[in-house]
Amino acid sequence: MKKIAIYGKGGIGKSTTVANVAAAMAALGLTVLQIGCDPKADSSRTLTGGKNIPTVLETLRKKGDAELDDLVFKSSTGVLCVESGGPVPGVGCAGRGIITAFEKLAELDAYEIYKPDIVLYDVLGDVVCGGFAMPIRGGYADEVCIVTSGEMMALYAAANIAHAVRSFGKRGYASLRGLILNAKNIENENELVDKAAAELQAPVMYRLPREPFVQQAEAQGKTVVEAFPACAMAAHYRALARLLLEGGETS
Ligand code: ATP
Ligand code: MG
Repeated sequence: MKKIAIYGKGGIGKSTTVANVAAAMAALGLTVLQIGCDPKADSSRTLTGGKNIPTVLETLRKKGDAELDDLVFKSSTGVLCVESGGPVPGVGCAGRGIITAFEKLAELDAYEIYKPDIVLYDVLGDVVCGGFAMPIRGGYADEVCIVTSGEMMALYAAANIAHAVRSFGKRGYASLRGLILNAKNIENENELVDKAAAELQAPVMYRLPREPFVQQAEAQGKTVVEAFPACAMAAHYRALARLLLEGGETS
């Protein structure tokens, strides 16, 4: 079982990238578990017809307890989807929600029962508080990839995450695999990301172009891989999926 956490600044394209890669991996015949670690709970929206699935925290709040069937939802593309959810706004800590969700999945033997080949964590990267760092330091993820554009704030968030991974890494937790450029088409974007990657001593693993098909698929509640399998963007997501599975990097 390979476990990869995908971090990145808010709105940078984490959920889109994770869901497309998850769908591409499932199409290869793999059992894929996608865990959304975001109070917004929209990580798997494009896998589940544009609707949010019930979250772990919400279900625990409503039912007091939960069974796996209440928490894990299989998408039409075959991806197993979980959303941690978050606290009632203004009350409690979002990071704590992630920890609760992870503990519940482990307690219900989710990993033994579903036997995923790959687990993908979709994690917000603006804050690296204890809860959001949980996939890195709790032994949940082996590798961390950071989605970024060439925008300064995205690169700033990427640097913060990279430093957090490196500081925990000394204790044998997840390692930083590299950056995934999700282009915003700003001036000199490739060069800006290359420079940041060099400073962080991390490779730019893949470069995803900005592509209108992404929003068109999203409007249908689908991934690009499912809605437009023949387009170049779907091929990019499939290539990134293979790269994440195999190890290694493109230029
Ligand atoms: P959040 O931090 O709020 O969870 P996120 O990092 O998960 O955000 P997404 O929700 O995946 O970001 O993407 C934000 C928006 O950017 C979406 O509307 C999505 O369709 C669009 N988007 C993402 N990647 C691309 C791309 N390569 N080309 C065009 N649009 C994209
Ligand atoms: Mg998201």
